[in-house]
Amino acid sequence: NKQIILKGYTDGSPLETDMELKVGDGLKLEAPKGSNAIVVKNLYLSCDPYMRGRMRDFHGSYLPPFSPGSAIEGFGVSKVVDSDDPNLKRGDLVSGFTNWEEYSIIHKTKTGQLRKIEQDDGIPLSYHVGLLGMPGFTAYVGFYEVCGPKKGDYVYVSAASGAVGQLVGQLAKLHGCYVVGSAGTSKKVELLKNKLGFDEAFNYKQELDLEAALMRYFPQGIDIYFDNVGGAMLDAALANMRIHGRVAVCGMVSQTNRTDTQTFRNMFSVISKRVTIKGFLQSDFVHLYPRFLEDIKGWYKQGKIVYLEDMNDGLETAPAAFVGLFSGKNVGKQVICVASE
Ligand code: NDP
Repeated sequence: NKQIILKGYTDGSPLETDMELKVGDGLKLEAPKGSNAIVVKNLYLSCDPYMRGRMRDFHGSYLPPFSPGSAIEGFGVSKVVDSDDPNLKRGDLVSGFTNWEEYSIIHKTKTGQLRKIEQDDGIPLSYHVGLLGMPGFTAYVGFYEVCGPKKGDYVYVSAASGAVGQLVGQLAKLHGCYVVGSAGTSKKVELLKNKLGFDEAFNYKQELDLEAALMRYFPQGIDIYFDNVGGAMLDAALANMRIHGRVAVCGMVSQTNRTDTQTFRNMFSVISKRVTIKGFLQSDFVHLYPRFLEDIKGWYKQGKIVYLEDMNDGLETAPAAFVGLFSGKNVGKQVICVASE
């Protein structure tokens, strides 16, 4: 059994060398009788920015740190190869937490978080860690439940071509909003405008003055800022909000690896423009998952939304793909294909 393990806790930007490939953990492909456990073959694994937080020796967050020396835990799509759980049988496909390895044993305490996948013609299986998985769900609840969108709103999305951002922008368009996205390469900007249907897009790395850039794209101001990056971009957006604007704070990928503190210049706008800033975790909205699945599957099949994936081949590519999230190497949702069905 090949595994990707975390070597030890790290600070600053994650490096490929923080992880290593380990071969042969002696896993038996049998679920012990009476254990209620299952053994799965991992097909697709997800690289997500939040995983960076679990590489630190910090216990105060919403998820515990990884265990050094053990396979990294993350979302995946897996096939059951042996089961002692009465609700799952050999051959079933599941999505949820698994480990960065070829085969995993998932114990009784964790099988409850798995979702059985009802395979649907025309929808790629890997989408269960992207469009139909945690990132897609984050976009859905973040936009509809946190942003309070209205038709005609001016919406700005950062990290707009990524796993979450690309769907936020498309949902906002379906809702009748005007949508601008930012991303870090000209290729991504091109995709935002020509494939994902954003009204406008820009490369934030080419802007010397982010406040001025946002003013150029939103001369009338921003009603909704869906913030995936935090830091200087959040500060620039605050200066450009409209009265009663809303900021959904989804993520702070620009701050994840920093050790210094960020100072904000434009907080007074929150008062003068009566801006609502709301942070959220997708996990607080699990009751909406069935509605999300029905809506998104329907819109995808009707061609109303598309989804960009960045698929790497082979478990051994996972460390580089993960590290690449923090320099914008991924174009769309970063997925690792470990095995085909
Ligand atoms: P992405 O697929 O968007 O990948 C990360 C992207 O972030 C990169 O491709 C890069 O794109 C951008 N980025 C990296 N470093 C920086 C930086 N220093 N400054 C600005 N942009 C940067 O990731 P996800 O869509 O999976 O996640 C997006 C955000 O949502 C993250 O902050 C994540 O933590 C958060 N999140 C929050 C959840 C919640 O429940 N609140 C759940 C899921 C995700 P670019 O080329 O544009 O720079």
